[in-house]
Amino acid sequence: MSDCLFCQIIEGRIPAAMVHQDDTLVAFRDINPQAPLHLLIVPRKHIASLNDLSPEDDALIGVLMRRAAALARAHGYEERGYRTVFNTNREAGQTVFHIHLHLLAGRSLAWPPG
Ligand code: 5GP
Ligand code: ZN
Repeated sequence: MSDCLFCQIIEGRIPAAMVHQDDTLVAFRDINPQAPLHLLIVPRKHIASLNDLSPEDDALIGVLMRRAAALARAHGYEERGYRTVFNTNREAGQTVFHIHLHLLAGRSLAWPPG
């Protein structure tokens, strides 16, 4: 989608600090990090929110989750721990309507979340 920020990053029209790219997804550093490691794992397919997933996306979500674990491991947080978050719509604070998995690590993360 031409007016979607993350589609524009995926297409290389807006720069981002990429840490991983493959045929299915990209991962880049959040511009406003909330932890020492804050990555966004983003499918190349434009899907506005989790509310818009269809059964054909089931495998895609698995790929996103496994990539988050691999990136956490690659950055040394496999044992210390990390958090993975999808925000959906207003009360969860979703601001970019192209699904993205937040990967946060490197500090103690409060529970319950704010
Ligand atoms: P949401 O609030 O939708 O769950 O997450 C959107 C995230 O995208 C936020 O954490 C925000 O800091 C990040 N973000 C917004 N604009 C940009 C940008 O232009 N580049 C990067 N790398 N991250 C962005
Ligand atoms: Zn998009």
